[in-house]
Amino acid sequence: MYHATPAMFNRVLNWLFPDRCAGCRQLTGDLFCAACRKRLRPFPPFPPPAGLDRAWVAFRYEGALVSAIHQLKYGRRRRVAHALGDLLAAAAGPLVADALIAVPLHRDRLRERGFNQAAELAGRLRQAGGPPLIEGLVRIRSTQRQARLAANARAANVAGAFAWNRPTPPPPHLILVDDVFTTGATLAACAAALRAAGAQSVGAIALARSLIDDSVVQ
Ligand SMILES: [Zn+2]
Repeated sequence: MYHATPAMFNRVLNWLFPDRCAGCRQLTGDLFCAACRKRLRPFPPFPPPAGLDRAWVAFRYEGALVSAIHQLKYGRRRRVAHALGDLLAAAAGPLVADALIAVPLHRDRLRERGFNQAAELAGRLRQAGGPPLIEGLVRIRSTQRQARLAANARAANVAGAFAWNRPTPPPPHLILVDDVFTTGATLAACAAALRAAGAQSVGAIALARSLIDDSVVQ
């Protein structure tokens, strides 16, 4: 009996559709060619926004990373998620917390997209030796896409949108994982729900953030 494994399936896919660099479209067999990978710039340290104990972002949202994140959300999904998750893990180094929690999608959006990109990134952080990835944080209310709102409307849009849905409290020290950090309003709303359920500290880690104008980021 012959069973195709996901790895074999990926090899076939790669042969049919060889990976082009998300930056310069060169055939590389990888998400980025060496030159575009080198051009990804780290995001400078910044003070955590209200509601988060710590916040850290790996890269500036620009150039090749913008098209890679676009592919992550709307394109070939898991393979891109793995490559980006591994980049994030390498940039972040060891993460100290009891658990990782991915920013949840509302179930309607999850159904429409088929997967949660934040959970895919968090899964790679775990694989790279990070804290365990746990479930239990849920989006209880569908919210408007944050990118369409002014900064001051974003906090109101997501306030109360999340809840902890397990009978036991979450572990005390947590790190939230998301793909793109905008104003931090979504992450702060997640943190508030986790604190209400008993968490003591909640930090956040994200792959990318815009330096200039948050409104262009989604
Ligand atoms: Zn390139």
